Amino acid sequence: MPKKVAKKPLKKFHTRFTDEDPSVYKEPAPLNAKSSGVEKENPLESMMERFDKAAEILGLEQGIYQYLKTPVKCVIVSVPVTMDDGRIEIFDGYRVVHNDILGPSKGGIRYAPDVNLDEVKALAAWMTWKCAVIDIPFGGAKGGVTCDPRKLSQRELEMITRRYTANMLDVFGPDRDIPAPDVNTNEQVMAWVLDTYSMHRRRTEPGVVTGKPLILGGSKGRREATGRGVMHATLSGLEKLRISPNKATVAVEGFGNVGSISAASLYEQGAKIIAISDVTGGYYNEKGINVEAAIKFSETHGNLLEGFKGGDKITNDEVLTVKCDVLVPAAREDRITDRNAKDIKAKLIVEGANGPTSASADEILDSKGVMVIPDILANAGGVKVSYFEWVQNRMGFYWPLDLVNQRLEQAMKDAFDRVYENGQKHNVSLRLSSYILAIDKVARTLKLRGIYG
Ligand code: GLU
Repeated sequence: MPKKVAKKPLKKFHTRFTDEDPSVYKEPAPLNAKSSGVEKENPLESMMERFDKAAEILGLEQGIYQYLKTPVKCVIVSVPVTMDDGRIEIFDGYRVVHNDILGPSKGGIRYAPDVNLDEVKALAAWMTWKCAVIDIPFGGAKGGVTCDPRKLSQRELEMITRRYTANMLDVFGPDRDIPAPDVNTNEQVMAWVLDTYSMHRRRTEPGVVTGKPLILGGSKGRREATGRGVMHATLSGLEKLRISPNKATVAVEGFGNVGSISAASLYEQGAKIIAISDVTGGYYNEKGINVEAAIKFSETHGNLLEGFKGGDKITNDEVLTVKCDVLVPAAREDRITDRNAKDIKAKLIVEGANGPTSASADEILDSKGVMVIPDILANAGGVKVSYFEWVQNRMGFYWPLDLVNQRLEQAMKDAFDRVYENGQKHNVSLRLSSYILAIDKVARTLKLRGIYG
């Protein structure tokens, strides 16, 4: 019988630095430090808490447990860039490959002022579980650069991207590790990654990134895939709750690629979007927000909703607790915690972002009977279509949009059903059920491959 897992302190989650000069790395302030009087959560701890629970239910052997909680590779690089005013600025760049047992590792690159190693480690692990849940032959990775894209010119953004990519040449590759867009990165950033990588390799490698422009070998439907996947997950959840989509009221937190397309897709399905938000605050309209108008407004106002008149101004925190049937947190991590979980009024939470609910909120939401479709299932449509893009690049043959969307819909429905049934079987939440399915799949594959060493 496999030995049951004993809970290990998080500090043991060890890191292997493969970067040649890790001395450039400055340890960020501890994430648990109290800032502005509010206890900040650590997404890595949230990930591990759920991982531990699932590992215990699976009765994972100690060695396999250790293997799966440890990232395969953590690379930290300095990214020096000559800024427009002639100053040299040094940014920190990260890439964590959490696991590559199922195939080449996959995951986005994010640009934000608070990107740090623990966050990237958590996000990389979530990619491993996400790829397993949505049934694609990829492992999990994540990258990031600590910078504030709002303060950077296009040229500076390009230089950061190119130097970061050049420093990651030995990590990336169509058969090794394949980046994609994430928070504050987009098709243009992927085009620069592709070009830099291809220049060094002396041949064009479309398969080295996904989420690239169509003209460079991107897939139809990739840009909308995460949001459309969130919509399919929401429809599956609503069906279980016996709420008709055109009677459902929805609040969406975050109005970037995922939030805006989730809102637009649900709006198309007849749902009433009563609240939206972005960095400029929340906008509430009990009669329903015209999502198309909001998207148009944002597009013509520097990608911000500031000044949008289609709803009354509320705070970002209020968006999370408005009375609604469905809440789609689609911004960043740890927005729903033990501080506000008791005030959530939604019956269904569909996690468009990665890690928007901290582990401290899980029990509160469970005891309130809120159905939570977790990130590693709800937002897996993005990486599913990334996989389709990578397959098309390898085939050199491109699919029509309706085929992409049809395969995405089927994949989301199948994954939801698997997670739901497994949840019933173990009598656990959809979150725990997703982790159980994912960890079991990766663990079984690992056992078959064996340990080389
Ligand atoms: N950044 C997206 C995610 O978190 C997509 C990753 C990918 O397509 O590789 O799932």
